Amino acid sequence: MNKISVKKYPYLCNFFKTAVEQNRLFHSLIFYGSNGYMQYLLALEIARQLNCLEDKREDCNCQNCRWIRENKHPAVMTVSKIDNKTDTSKTVISEEQINMVLDTLVNSSDYHRVFIFCDAEMKNLSLSEKTEYDEFMQSGYGLPQETDENKIWYPSGISTSCFSSVAANAMLKSIEEPSSNVTFIFLTNNKDDLLQTIVSRSQAFYTPDTKHIEYNYEFFKQYFSTYPVFDINRAIDFAQTLLTYQIDNDLKPLYILDCIQYYLTEILKNNTSDNVLMNIIFRDIKEIEKAKQMLKSYIKEQTVYENLAYYFAKR
Ligand SMILES: [Zn+2]
Repeated sequence: MNKISVKKYPYLCNFFKTAVEQNRLFHSLIFYGSNGYMQYLLALEIARQLNCLEDKREDCNCQNCRWIRENKHPAVMTVSKIDNKTDTSKTVISEEQINMVLDTLVNSSDYHRVFIFCDAEMKNLSLSEKTEYDEFMQSGYGLPQETDENKIWYPSGISTSCFSSVAANAMLKSIEEPSSNVTFIFLTNNKDDLLQTIVSRSQAFYTPDTKHIEYNYEFFKQYFSTYPVFDINRAIDFAQTLLTYQIDNDLKPLYILDCIQYYLTEILKNNTSDNVLMNIIFRDIKEIEKAKQMLKSYIKEQTVYENLAYYFAKR
C-alpha cells in the first residue's frame, strides 16, 4: 500500500514519528499551506502514530491503524462546519460544537484522542481534486462522510469565516491546559486565518504543496553551500540576487520566499536523523513566514530580503 502522506512529507512524518516515540509531541499543531487534502492525510498519519498497537510501521494493519485510515476510529474526530455537528449551523464551526468536543474529554480514554479542525464541503470535484481523491482512496483511506449524489467530502484550510473567534476562544483553555493523551490539529492555508492566541500556543508546520508549483532554487543555492552557516559578507549580495531574479523573471516576492522555504524542506528530507539541524530548519522556515507577513504589510521586498539575509547571517 502506497502511503501518500509519508511519500509527500517524509521529513515531517519522520519528525512526528520521533516526537511520538520520545513522548514530546506538542498537544496543539498547526499545518499551514495550500493543500488541505495533504494536510488531512498528515493529520491522520499522526493519529495513527499515536494509536498504533504494534510497531507504527507505514503499512501496519492493526485495528487502530485500520480504523484510523478508514476514518472509523472513535478517538479521531474531524471537526468542520459539516462534520460532527450538534446544531443546525452549516457555515461555521459553532461554539456549541466546540463544547461538545471538549465534553468528550471529560471521560478518560484508552486511546490517544486526535481532533482535526478543518473546513470541508461536499462538492463535485475538479479534475485535479479528483486525482487527489483517487490517490487517497486507492491508498486505503476513508473520508469522514460518504459520497452523496456524486458530491464528495473535500477538506480545506480553516479560516476566521468558518471558525469564529467565539468558537476558537472556547478552545483556548483546553489548549492551554491540555488533558493527557489529546492532540489538536488545525489545518489552514495561512496562520493569519487562525486566532492569534491559538497560533501562539501551538507548534506550526509549513506543508508545501508539491504538486502544482515548480520551485526553482538554482539562483540562490550557492549562498546555502555551507548551510546552516551563512556568510555575513554575502548577505547584501544574497538579498540583491533575490531581488534581481524576481524582477528579471517578473515573479512575485512571495514566490521567491516559497522557493527558499521549499529548498529548506529539501534539506530536511535528507537530514531527518539530525535533530539539531532539523530544529534550525524549522526556525528558518518560521522566519521566512515572518518575511511573508512583512510583504503582506506592504514592506518593500528589498527590505524584506535584506532582513532575511541578516537573520541568516546572524542567527
Ligand atoms: Zn498499527
